[in-house]
Parts: sequence; C-alpha cells; structure tokens
Amino acid sequence: MLGETTEDDGSAEPNTTHTAAGELADAIRTTLGPNGLDKMVVGENGTVIVTNDGSSIIEWMDITHPVGRLVEQAAAAQDSAVGDGTTTAVVLVGALLEEAAALRSDGLHPTTIIDGYVRAAEAALDQLEQYERGLHSRNDDRLTQIAKTAVTGRWDDASTDRFAELTLSALQAVEFDTSRLTLKSYPGGELRDSVCLDGVVVDLETSSTSLEALSHPSIQTHDKPAIAMVDAEIGIEEPNHVESVELQDATQRNAFQAHEQDRKAELVEQVVQSDATVLFCQKAIDEAVRTALAQRGVLPVERTRRDEFDVIARATGSTPVMAVDDLTVDDTGTVESVTQRTVGTTQTLTMQGCPEEQRATLLLRGGTPHVAEEVRRIVADCIDVTRVILDDGTFLPGGGAVPTALAMDIAALSCGIPDRTQIVFDGFGTALEAIPRTLATNAGTDPLNTLTTIKQRHDAGSETVGVGPDGHPRDMIAAGVLEPATVFRSALQRAVAVVTQIVRIDDIVQISAGERRTDARHDHAHAATGGYPWAVGH
Ligand code: ADP
Ligand code: MG
Repeated sequence: MLGETTEDDGSAEPNTTHTAAGELADAIRTTLGPNGLDKMVVGENGTVIVTNDGSSIIEWMDITHPVGRLVEQAAAAQDSAVGDGTTTAVVLVGALLEEAAALRSDGLHPTTIIDGYVRAAEAALDQLEQYERGLHSRNDDRLTQIAKTAVTGRWDDASTDRFAELTLSALQAVEFDTSRLTLKSYPGGELRDSVCLDGVVVDLETSSTSLEALSHPSIQTHDKPAIAMVDAEIGIEEPNHVESVELQDATQRNAFQAHEQDRKAELVEQVVQSDATVLFCQKAIDEAVRTALAQRGVLPVERTRRDEFDVIARATGSTPVMAVDDLTVDDTGTVESVTQRTVGTTQTLTMQGCPEEQRATLLLRGGTPHVAEEVRRIVADCIDVTRVILDDGTFLPGGGAVPTALAMDIAALSCGIPDRTQIVFDGFGTALEAIPRTLATNAGTDPLNTLTTIKQRHDAGSETVGVGPDGHPRDMIAAGVLEPATVFRSALQRAVAVVTQIVRIDDIVQISAGERRTDARHDHAHAATGGYPWAVGH
C-alpha cells in the first residue's frame, strides 16, 4: 500500500502526495509510547524483526513512494542526530498534514498554510523554553529516569529499568567517556544475568588457547597478575630467503630439532623471567611454546583482536614488544584480577581493576541472538540519550505534557492574529495534540476525555501533567517520565520542515527508466524543452 502511488480519484484536495506520508504515520502511530505495540517487519528475503522502535521499523520498511521517502529521510535524520523521537516526528508529520488537508479544503492556499506553520512553529519553539528544566549534575538521579523513559515499552518494565540502571552505572564508572565502555552481547542466559564489570573482557573464541591452560590454578589465584604483550608471532622464525633446508643425515636432523627445541625453551624462559601471568599475543603462538607456557603458569592468549590488544595495553600499562627476546619485567602491566568465565557458549577472560585506565564492560545476555541484539540496541539507546542530555543539560516532562502545553499556548496566541493565519495556528495546535491523543489511544483510554482533563489540569497551573503509563493523566515530573529537551525540539523542527516541503509539492512526475536514459543523452536545456518539468530530479 505504501509503495504505490495512489490514483487520484478526482476529488479536488488534498492531492495524493499527502496520503503516502499519512499512511506511513498511521502505520507507526500504534507504536508510540510505553504502551505502543510491536510491529513485525518481514523483509523481502524473509528476515524478520519484531520491535516497537519507530526508527527501526521505518528503516526496515521498503518505502518506495517518493513522499514516503521524504518522511523516511526526516525520521532517519532525527534518529542519527538524537537517537530518539522518530515516532513522535512521524506522528507530528501525519497530524500536520491532516490539518493541512482540512485547511486546504477550507480554501486556504498552500503558501498561506506553509507560512502559518512556519510562524506557529517559531512561536512553539519560543514557548518551549519555559518548560525546560536543567540537570543539577552528572550524578543527578534524573539521568536514570531519562534513560528509562527513552526505552520504556521496548521490553518489560522491570528489564528496561534494569538496563537503564546498568547503563548509567557503567557510564558513571567511566566518567561518561563512552570510549572507555565496551558493549558485548551474548546469546544464551537470561536478561537478568546481564552485568556491568569494571574492566576489560576478551573473547577467547577465536583463540586456540587450550582449556587446560585456562583452568590452570595459578591464574585464578594470582594476586595482581602481570600482563605481558607481544605484537608479533611467537615461535621459530622462518629463515629469510631460504626456501628449504637440506638435512644430510640423522645427526644433522637431530641437531636441527635440538636447536628448535632450545629456541622454544629460550622463548618460554624469557616470558617466565618477565614474571608475566598472562601473555597476550597479537598473532599466533607456536603450539609447543603455548603448552610449555601453560605448564609454567603463564596463560598464553593468541590472536588477540587489534582493538582489544590496544585497549589491554592502555588499561594495564603494559608495553607491547615486537619480539619475545625484548620482553622484560619493565614491559609488563598489571590488573587486580584475571578471571576466566564462560558466557553463554563463549570463553572469556575478564581483567578487572585496570590501573592505567578505568574501563567498564557491559556483558549483556539474551536468550536468543534476536533478544541479545535487541538488548544491545536498548542499551545503545540509553547511552545515546545520556549523551544527548549531557550535551544540552535541559529536559522536559514527557507523556505529551509539553505538546499539550504548547497547543494551549498556540491557541492563546492565535486569538490575537487578525488574518487567516489564525486558523492555520489553530490547525497547528490541534496537530500538536496528536501526541497526547495517540499516547492515550495506545494505552486504551479515551483520547478526548484524557486530553480534556489534562488541559484542565494545565489551566489550573499543573503544566507538567501528561498521559501516564496507564493512559490516565499524571504529573510527569513526579512519575519520572523525563526526556531531553533536544528530542522534542528537534522532532518538531524536522516534522515542520518536511511537512512544509510536502505541502509545497502539488504533483509527482515520474520519469520512466527509458526516458531517463534519453534524458541523459541530451543536455539539460534540451531535456527541459523536451517537456520534462525541471523540478523532476530534486
Ligand atoms: P519515539 O520514537 O518518538 O521516541 P516512543 O515510542 O519512544 O517514540 O514514545 C515516546 C513518547 O512516549 C514520548 O512522548 C514519551 O514522553 C512517552 N513516554 C515514554 N515513557 C513514558 C511513560 N512511562 N509514561 C508516559 N509516557 C511515556
Ligand atoms: Mg523513544
């Protein structure tokens, strides 16, 4: 339905360009808010995602209608800039277009509507400032409430609350420097098994480190284990420029093997002399060397991923050497503890208490890969929203309290406007009310009654009342439903921008592939005189 250009049925206004955007808004409206339903999006190749995150749904929908694409782009821009508020933006687009259609059938010219919307939006953004509140500090409890609000409805309440709290404690541990925080999600286990660890977790899945070595008692009990790092292969060096070595007889062969063994023993001895407990090697470690090291109480970890290798070096204060022969006690770093644990089916090594760089790792668990991935997205959204709020420092009560207050402000302003812009302002105000109305509908309460009560409460001075999680009017500050001011501000700005763009379009002219090829062979002027409107292609 969304993919097709609806035929014009001959009715005068609105034109079909508006309906595609309206349909998109209808499709995702039911996902808004804590009671929003999930959508199952089925891709062409049969891939399935189940989510109620507006941005993921739009991203996965195959929108082909050009006007639908405009809305999709606006939603994507909102998501990448702010990471939240996409559904809000799209619901606003739908409502503003619906009002625009009504205004057009009342005989208003698109230019009047656009002009009125732009002025009303400016007025709304001015008014918005009076509802903004500031955070006290980075340890303000309201940060957790903001993170919770950003992810409510994405999973059951207890889990989302826990993810928000975990994320905040992880962020606090790294002083909100996200470059020191690692997210790892593992399928298997329960959501509640997710934990925040102070330190670095390395997957041993790709490493061929033997299990006997891992359960070596000296590793688990070692006090302040020393960490050595080698940035090259560990083993017998391949002789340069020599293709093969010819061995004449058994004596020579024995001598050669003895030499190899001596060399390996030397390598092992060098590592042992450095007092290392764990040896991270960025490349492979010779099998015999690996076994010998494990026997001497050193845990060898080979093929450590480059990014993890660098992180370990920084966090433990270890200096990676290019050859084992250069390794000394001075090159090793240290941590409080090294523990081996199996997370799901993955063997991991956890290094806690890094002296040089305070790091945190969120180990996220979910029963299936799908769940683990969604959990990861939820945590990533908590991180994004925290970044946004710390950037700007101001937040707003959620649950539609602010759009309701703004709708009332716009209605008050419209009375003072002498010309037809007055009814455009009224339309704009009604469109803002789509947020509380939709939240109420999705929660199963009567949208009109709920909105009326909320407006009465606002009139009586409680401007922070909105639609509570149960669909009934609640004070949003008391309920802890808070959002960064940037989220709503930017959703409103983007919605108005795309709506004015759509209202300006009066028709869609499509060029078939064949015509476009012809077009390409001619210069632009010729193409224009060839009957193609120059607006095409914009
Ligand atoms: P978006 O993609 O716009 O972020 P959401 O589905 O996340 O859409 O819904 C956001 C809306 O839900 C906001 O208006 C927000 O204030 C509201 N909301 C979030 N949590 C709650 C809650 N616990 N109670 C009431 N409203 C909430
Ligand atoms: Mg949201």
